[in-house]
Amino acid sequence: MQAEKSLQNQPHTEAGTSRPCRSCKWQTPDPTDPHRGQCTANRHAMGGVWKRWLRDVENTTCARHEEGKLSFRDHV
Ligand code: SF4
Repeated sequence: MQAEKSLQNQPHTEAGTSRPCRSCKWQTPDPTDPHRGQCTANRHAMGGVWKRWLRDVENTTCARHEEGKLSFRDHV
């Protein structure tokens, strides 16, 4: 189902997830609060900038999660 798929691609809360935004290469940490960040995944998927504020990078995930070790500097 298209609707279900797009829902999985949205950031959503999943307590204790093993694939948290924190370890995702699309996530840019908030410099003032390590629990928050921004998701920039759709910049690549859709050709436009799509940022989502993430309130809790430890307990948020989505189907686009990709492991990455990019420094936040790479996003600046
Ligand atoms: S792509 Fe998904 S898992 Fe990765 S930072 Fe964005 S919302 Fe989080």
